[in-house]
Amino acid sequence: MSLQGKCAVVTGGGRGIGRAVCLELARNGVNVALCYAGSETAAMETAAACKELGVEALAVKCDVSDAEQVSAMTEAAITAFGRIDILVNNAGITRDSLLMSMKETDFDQVLATNLKGTFLCMKAVSRQMLKQRWGRIINLSSVVGLRGNAGQVNYAASKAGVVGMTKSAAKEFAGRNVTVNAVAPGFIATDMTAAMPEKARAAVLDTIPMGKMGAAEDIAQAVVFLAGDGAGYITGQVLCVDGGMAM
Ligand code: NAP
Repeated sequence: MSLQGKCAVVTGGGRGIGRAVCLELARNGVNVALCYAGSETAAMETAAACKELGVEALAVKCDVSDAEQVSAMTEAAITAFGRIDILVNNAGITRDSLLMSMKETDFDQVLATNLKGTFLCMKAVSRQMLKQRWGRIINLSSVVGLRGNAGQVNYAASKAGVVGMTKSAAKEFAGRNVTVNAVAPGFIATDMTAAMPEKARAAVLDTIPMGKMGAAEDIAQAVVFLAGDGAGYITGQVLCVDGGMAM
């Protein structure tokens, strides 16, 4: 297995897509440092499940929008593993409402977690990856960042920003064998989408050519592909995993 013995940082790795990514990395022999903001129990359970798969794992409390906490989290990963080969910027939030009624704090919080958090984590691991002359950064965007969505101007802005940042960082790091790509999930069954009203869920389902929601594991498979040797010549790309939604 090409990823055996590599070391990853996965933000928001305790639940949902992040948890599926941690487990799939662990199945491929990758040691995992995952961070969580509030769900300590879920994070500890995910770390324990990774260890059961035979790798080293640790869970670190870290708000990705806080530079000092991000720095401490990456230091903890380097102390534990000696290196960071893979960064998965998965932590994300929504604060939905129509633009006219959207609170400024809801705009700021979503941008701080989804966009600034991705920037801070890329910055924190970049020195280590450039020194190693090997690295894989995978940022979670969204089809909403590519197509827009009523009620999500804050979220769409953050996820479109992630695409621009991914392509820019890809150009900066390419010469040192550090690739930077984005995965844009469509409509995936997690806590984030479970919170949607039934009518809104049905309306989104109607827009998916494959006619069904995706699973967190569908996203994890794409992330692990982009982390592996088979994707070594792919950088600056956005891989939609969405049942055809963004076609
Ligand atoms: P989720 O179930 O709501 O989980 C979100 C994760 O992010 C949790 O582990 C949470 O940790 C973490 N998190 C939130 N704020 C954080 C912060 N400030 N610092 C550190 N961690 C933080 O969401 P999901 O559906 O798995 O989504 C994962 C990613 O995929 C997100 O970036 C999301 O935007 C993207 N995405 C999801 C979908 C979908 O349909 N589900 C579609 C497109 C894109 P705590 O529990 O500890 O707070």
